Amino acid sequence: MNIQTIIKKAVKRLELEGKLLTPDFYAEAFCKEATKAGFATEDCSKLEKFTASLNKDFQDELKKYHIKNISELSRFLISKLNRTNPSHCANLLESQSLFIRRVLQVVEVLHNKEATELAKRSLELLNREPSVTEIDQFRQHWINFITTYDDTFLQKLKALGEVDKTNLKKTIEDLNLTNLCDKPLGTIELSTIASLLVSSLTPSIAPSINDKIADISQRIRSNPQLLQSASVEAEIKSAIALRIALDKQSVKEMIESIDGVLDKLSLRLIEMIESSDSSTIEIQKIKKELESYNEKTITNFSVAHKKIYAIAVALEKNTQALTSDLKKHSNEVNLLSKKIEHLEQELQRAREESKEDFLTKLYNKRALEELMNIKEAEFERHGHNFTVVFLDLDHFKDVNDTYGHDAGDAVLFAFAKILKNEARAVDIVGRFGGEEFIAILGETDIKGGVVFAEKVREKLKKSSLMYKDNQIKLTVSCGVSDRKSNFSLQSLVKSADENLYKAKNKGRDRVVYK
Ligand code: GH3
Ligand code: MG
Ligand code: MG
Repeated sequence: MNIQTIIKKAVKRLELEGKLLTPDFYAEAFCKEATKAGFATEDCSKLEKFTASLNKDFQDELKKYHIKNISELSRFLISKLNRTNPSHCANLLESQSLFIRRVLQVVEVLHNKEATELAKRSLELLNREPSVTEIDQFRQHWINFITTYDDTFLQKLKALGEVDKTNLKKTIEDLNLTNLCDKPLGTIELSTIASLLVSSLTPSIAPSINDKIADISQRIRSNPQLLQSASVEAEIKSAIALRIALDKQSVKEMIESIDGVLDKLSLRLIEMIESSDSSTIEIQKIKKELESYNEKTITNFSVAHKKIYAIAVALEKNTQALTSDLKKHSNEVNLLSKKIEHLEQELQRAREESKEDFLTKLYNKRALEELMNIKEAEFERHGHNFTVVFLDLDHFKDVNDTYGHDAGDAVLFAFAKILKNEARAVDIVGRFGGEEFIAILGETDIKGGVVFAEKVREKLKKSSLMYKDNQIKLTVSCGVSDRKSNFSLQSLVKSADENLYKAKNKGRDRVVYK
């Protein structure tokens, strides 16, 4: 049987069943005839195909309504949709919503901060009847969360033992926290240890940091995980050794410089002590101690400290000794200066009271005047005559000019000797001033006075006065007068002086008496 025959039989069947030739009736009749004839076309099995995709309740209902073709199925479904029970849908939605809420509440109490936060916000969203767009938005948030969720941090727990990713609670309970300190680095705050380590690597005494130390410090600071590596451990050890070496070197240099200063100080002290006249046992002891400090090599602070202390003690002692010496001496100086002052006063008084000429040791002018007054008194009371001889060295100025003042002094002294020798013990001889001499001859008249004067003049003339290698020749002029030839002491003196003046005028080296 071909398809034409099936079509004819289908049309015949419609005529027999009294049905109109509509597409649905025709399709139904055609499929029946085709099935009868053993043909299976896709169009004829469409209804079964769609029916099978519906749930059992629907299928049973379809049987009840004798749905025979696609268009009846469509009408059934449309009417079903129109008649759908609103309470069923709402119940479904509500139970789904409740379910979602419970799930979100569970997520909220779990231990992921991000998930907890998102769950909290999602719950808030559901409570305010969200729009579809809002729900989609949150759905996207959850997608993002699950896509970016990273649990690699769990690997860090490995160092502490077995990690069960599916049961974190058990993993944490299984951790042997008491052994934490024995666990390798990395389980505790590596960055804290790294910064502590780096600061301990910096030299505390040495002024600058070494390149090697700076490099390892920088690397550890930027990546604390490095502390777990064995090679870095070796580097850290060598950096520590380097830091100690740098500090040691600095300390050595500091001690050397202190040592240098101390040596200079002790040398200076020795110099000071040596330059002082004092040589007490105490100072000698300090000196010896300081010398011995110089010989010692200072190797550490305690020796440097002892040295400074010893110098300080020595200085203190020396200063104390010097201070007390100074005080003692200043008292002595005060006493002495008072004594000197006193002596000067006495000297002055003695000078004033002195009757002796300081150069010739003969009577001085003051004594001569006194003695003349005594002679005058004796003359006035007892009539005892006396003669006065004025003697003046000739051209004496030339001696000074030629041989010097000292020579002049020597000549004056020599002449005084001659004068003294030629005089009797009772005669009074003295220097009146400069190169002028006076002889007061008691109980002597002019004649005796002239004899005396001539003796002196001749003696001098014959003498060679020696000064160093020089022979000095000198003469003297004399003026003589006696008391009884004059009416007063003053006129006697005047007369003797005038006679001397005459002797000079007459050519010197002579004795004049009238
Ligand atoms: P004339 O023969 O006229 O006496 O000459 P003159 O040089 O002796 O006398 P003048 O009065 O011109 O000089 C006296 C000198 O004696 C001047 C003075 O410097 C010196 N004369 C006075 N007293 C001293 C003294 O104590 N020692 C020394 N060396 N010279 C003295
Ligand atoms: Mg004179
Ligand atoms: Mg003279």
